[in-house]
Amino acid sequence: MKLLFTNIKELLQVRENSVLKLSGKEMNILPTIKNAWLLIEDDKISDYGKMDDLPEISSDKIIDLSGKMVLPSWCDSHTHIVYAGNREQEFGQRISGLSYEEIANNGGGILNSAKTLQNTSEEDLYDQSAKRLDEVIKLGTGAVEIKSGYGLTKDAELKMLRVIKKLQQNYNLPIKATFLGAHALPLEYKNKKSEYIEHVIQEILPAVAEENLAEYIDVFCEQGYFSVEDTNKLLKAAAKFNLRPKIHVNQFNAIGGVQVGVKNNALSVDHLEEMKTEDIEALRNSDTMPVALPGCSLFLSIPYTPARMIIDADLPLALATDFNPGSAPSGNMNLVVSLACIKMKMTPEEAINAATINGAYAMDLSKKVGSITKGKLANLIITKCIPSYTYIPYAFGSNPIEAIYLNGKLIK
Ligand SMILES: [Zn+2]
Repeated sequence: MKLLFTNIKELLQVRENSVLKLSGKEMNILPTIKNAWLLIEDDKISDYGKMDDLPEISSDKIIDLSGKMVLPSWCDSHTHIVYAGNREQEFGQRISGLSYEEIANNGGGILNSAKTLQNTSEEDLYDQSAKRLDEVIKLGTGAVEIKSGYGLTKDAELKMLRVIKKLQQNYNLPIKATFLGAHALPLEYKNKKSEYIEHVIQEILPAVAEENLAEYIDVFCEQGYFSVEDTNKLLKAAAKFNLRPKIHVNQFNAIGGVQVGVKNNALSVDHLEEMKTEDIEALRNSDTMPVALPGCSLFLSIPYTPARMIIDADLPLALATDFNPGSAPSGNMNLVVSLACIKMKMTPEEAINAATINGAYAMDLSKKVGSITKGKLANLIITKCIPSYTYIPYAFGSNPIEAIYLNGKLIK
């Protein structure tokens, strides 16, 4: 099947295959072709160019995209899409003045989600999660990472990861699975943190590896949750099963999470709302992608990740949603791109690069998705008629998307 798009107002994010991520000043460049054509063969991008140079192509279908733009689908490298129920009661409590920590101490927060999930069947959990995945696909996400971490028992963590596996089997987009057993301390282990860590290492981790349910390991490295030492121990144990770290660090406090991540060859360190100079230094010359989650900052009214400090230090940066029931109940990457511009002072070019190719890198997918490149998957966003690509972050809250293609097929 050959599908030819013609008269594309602007084809965005056109890259050579060798570009895996962008850092510093490179992030401010978004290569595009104006008045372009794009050829898809089966599930892949096959060729593209200027309309003026359109060769004779025999195609099965031609679609005229006058006035519309085409860009690679968003790559959302940090989500918790698999969860049960919601936490809108806590939303009310927070508006009345309770903090995230106070709610957690009252039995709310992650433990609340864990209790609900433990009592939800695998089928029901799948249905609830699939609905959210359908929603984010329509919002332009074409590759996604999903974490466990709302189970906090062996059975419930495996249940979450099996649901992710089923989503991988049933959906036409790359989905990466991350094991986040150390997300919070379950009530049964109150004041027995080291016992819980042993339980994760001795019991849950080997079972996850045995069923081949995860590619990455995550830890909530934060004051009151898991220390740098705990994190180091968990990452070392996971490395024996070839699980690479993608970890939650520096959300409320900079306690050395970035350093322990880099030291353990983390693919990404995520959150980074609190950054010290030492954290920036630790990231230099590493292969670790810093990831910002501005939807979480918006929802919790906490500081935004200092994108300028990171990019101006010549580092890369990716953007993701953190879609989860407690601190970011939205998987809308369009809004994330807007927030990055409005609140983090990223340019539209930087934000689009951070949400595509750098997001792909943070899932080890930049050879497959994240740019308009020959041979990559045809996971595409077709915009409505818009005046320029800057309009995408500018018109925040609007949906700029007219159509979505995954693997070269129109999603209805
Ligand atoms: Zn998260």
